[in-house]
Amino acid sequence: MKIDKNFVITTLQKLVRINSINPMLSSGTPGEKEICCYIADVLKTLNLNPEIQEISKNRFNVTAVIKGTGSGKSLLLNAHTDTVGVENMNDPFSGKISDGKLFGRGAYDMKGSIAAMLAAAKAMVDNKTQLKGDLVIAFVADEEYDSIGTNHLLKTLKTDGAIITEPSNLDICIAHRGFGLYEIITKGKVAHGGRPDLGIDANMQMGKILHELNKISQELKKKEPHALLGRPSLHIPVIGGGTEPFTYSGKCKIILERRTIPGNKDEECLAEINNIIEKLSEEDQQFDAQVKQIMWRDPFETSKESELINKLSNSSKSVLNKEPVYIGHAWWEDSALTAKKGIDTVIIGPRGEGLHTANEWVEIESVNELAEILYQTAINFCK
Ligand SMILES: [Zn+2]
Repeated sequence: MKIDKNFVITTLQKLVRINSINPMLSSGTPGEKEICCYIADVLKTLNLNPEIQEISKNRFNVTAVIKGTGSGKSLLLNAHTDTVGVENMNDPFSGKISDGKLFGRGAYDMKGSIAAMLAAAKAMVDNKTQLKGDLVIAFVADEEYDSIGTNHLLKTLKTDGAIITEPSNLDICIAHRGFGLYEIITKGKVAHGGRPDLGIDANMQMGKILHELNKISQELKKKEPHALLGRPSLHIPVIGGGTEPFTYSGKCKIILERRTIPGNKDEECLAEINNIIEKLSEEDQQFDAQVKQIMWRDPFETSKESELINKLSNSSKSVLNKEPVYIGHAWWEDSALTAKKGIDTVIIGPRGEGLHTANEWVEIESVNELAEILYQTAINFCK
């Protein structure tokens, strides 16, 4: 193995000890500045030339390019530096090591991957590996919220291949679900609870919508499942309406979350909701509702036959001594963005547990293995 295992542990521990909670998820949290400066320092010690970009106020990406000699394929390795919050965690930034595992917020999602990418870059430098195509390593902001980091990166970058190093237990992830998020508001008429002749109950009106949405949710459960991703789904994570007892509710608001599989379209999911509102409006003159799409993220799927997956599969086989396993992820990742840009994309990351939960850890040996897999894949792809 060409990977410096001491470098991996020291770097990973330091990364986990830096708080990089996404400020859009928990207000007053620091974001990516400190972790980007640390990564830039590591890149400098490797004699690579890091570029830090402030992509919006106090939000940062850091990237470096290992230049190829020309004529080869270019490859992007991409990891996000932000993490979710630390509610219910005892010692979120400990970086404690026990039984081959390193603990802390972000260890698995995805500072293990950052350490692996840096270790792969170090192996390139240590071994004076000369690639033909460029190898771009990017550490991006905000994947846990709005992906401003990868979106910014792709404004000016287009590589032939991209490996998104999100945790995958070293399986090769070739598909993930997408999602749509919608706000629906029903309007009623505020009146004294004793005056049904004057009041219109926005909460009851929302009930009609919920009844129809529940029908769709049940229908989705009967759909033919995607081989790797299962079925699309729909649920209501947030609901709120009215102000107090003894008063008709003037407004009710829900957030609707729709999880999608490849083939589900933006406009179709929105039309589904608009159709419900239209139908209920025809039945009741007083029915007043509106829907607004808050977010849309495409699902992702790629062919197992792509050149990048072919090279990655070979590297994985040689490092892990077993046939690769191809999987799908239930959640969305930045891979949808690189794929949409026409970049041959795949996902692979380390083993661990505790994604977004109180007990998060990454298996250190799997970070070493990931680094070696990335190193070998870059050599074979950037030929
Ligand atoms: Zn992640």
